[in-house]
Amino acid sequence: MHLKNRVLVTGGSGFLGSFLCERLLDEGNEVMCVDNFFTGTRGNVAHLLSNPDFELLRHDVTFPLYVEVDEIYNLACPASPIHYQHDPVQTTKTSIHGAINMLGLAKRVKAKIFQASTSEVYGDPEIHPQPEDYLGRVNPIGERACYDEGKRCAETLFFDYYRQHGLRIKVCRIFNTYGPRMHPNDGRVVSNFIVQALKGKPITVYGDGSQTRSFCYVDDLVDGMIRLMGTPDEFTGPMNLGNPDEFTILELAENVLKLVGGSSQIVFKPLPGDDPRQRKPDITLARKTIGWEPTVRLADGLVRTVDYFSGLMSRGVI
Ligand code: NAD
Ligand code: UDP
Repeated sequence: MHLKNRVLVTGGSGFLGSFLCERLLDEGNEVMCVDNFFTGTRGNVAHLLSNPDFELLRHDVTFPLYVEVDEIYNLACPASPIHYQHDPVQTTKTSIHGAINMLGLAKRVKAKIFQASTSEVYGDPEIHPQPEDYLGRVNPIGERACYDEGKRCAETLFFDYYRQHGLRIKVCRIFNTYGPRMHPNDGRVVSNFIVQALKGKPITVYGDGSQTRSFCYVDDLVDGMIRLMGTPDEFTGPMNLGNPDEFTILELAENVLKLVGGSSQIVFKPLPGDDPRQRKPDITLARKTIGWEPTVRLADGLVRTVDYFSGLMSRGVI
């Protein structure tokens, strides 16, 4: 007999997933972490393995999974451009077959299911900041399409399972999030700049650095995810979660340099294809519905993230 809430986290040994597993355990849940270790590592959840309420399963979500759970957080999908463009067909399969398999599981066991969607569904937006009812401007045949269109189609599937089968769904559009346990080589801007600065290598700004992003610290995001999952059944989302403080990429490079010190120079490299010009979440809905507001300022979150990467460096991991 099960008294505890059983929660499945796909992509649970990745950056966000590992923090989510930790929080769910702290709140008294049983957690089953499913991952194929494409970008996630056992190391990210090593500290949870001795917890009797935690289970780690190697599994690829593009194949069906038969387990008994009460809630599902579907995070499995590479999130950085380098990783999702490495095998774009597999990325699309992960988003779409993964969503179908997890929705099928949710339907069979009547579980509530959360989808980690993304601000990339807005593409290169003409509206700023982006509210949830903005339909987006995505290039369906570009280099980012495997990720953007995969995530858009996953949202479609979630809403069709909701309308057609009455599933309890929560769709969350996550904006750029950073923190410890980001993959040091995944090419995302925060980890790239910190690792470059720590190693005294050039800081690679793509384009002229005037494009903007809004960076949310991982603890704030995980808090928002759990609150969204706890909303009444009739609330489906989509809901934006992210930090509305907006920075140019050049400002981020300067902030990281100031914090780390050292001798790195900023160098300018070509802008990748379809790189969005600007991005900033409108979080009115999150404020109103779940009373959520990010609390960690970029300057403070960067200090914690730099500490993490310096730790990896002093242990010779990077
Ligand atoms: P991540 O790459 O660290 O985590 C993704 C995890 O999914 C990894 O552990 C990876 O091994 C696993 N995975 C990939 N394909 C899989 C498959 N076929 N089967 C099972 N596991 C698989 O990235 P993250 O930043 O932690 O992102 C987690 C989720 O949040 C992703 O769905 C991502 O699209 C979404 N998201 C993240 C951000 C962000 O800024 N971090 C922004 C928007 C959306
Ligand atoms: N970027 C950069 N230098 C890097 C890595 C990224 O200037 O070494 C830029 C990238 O072109 C984009 C922004 O930083 O404009 C955010 O990139 P990231 O890959 O982190 O996320 P996304 O583009 O998916 O928001």
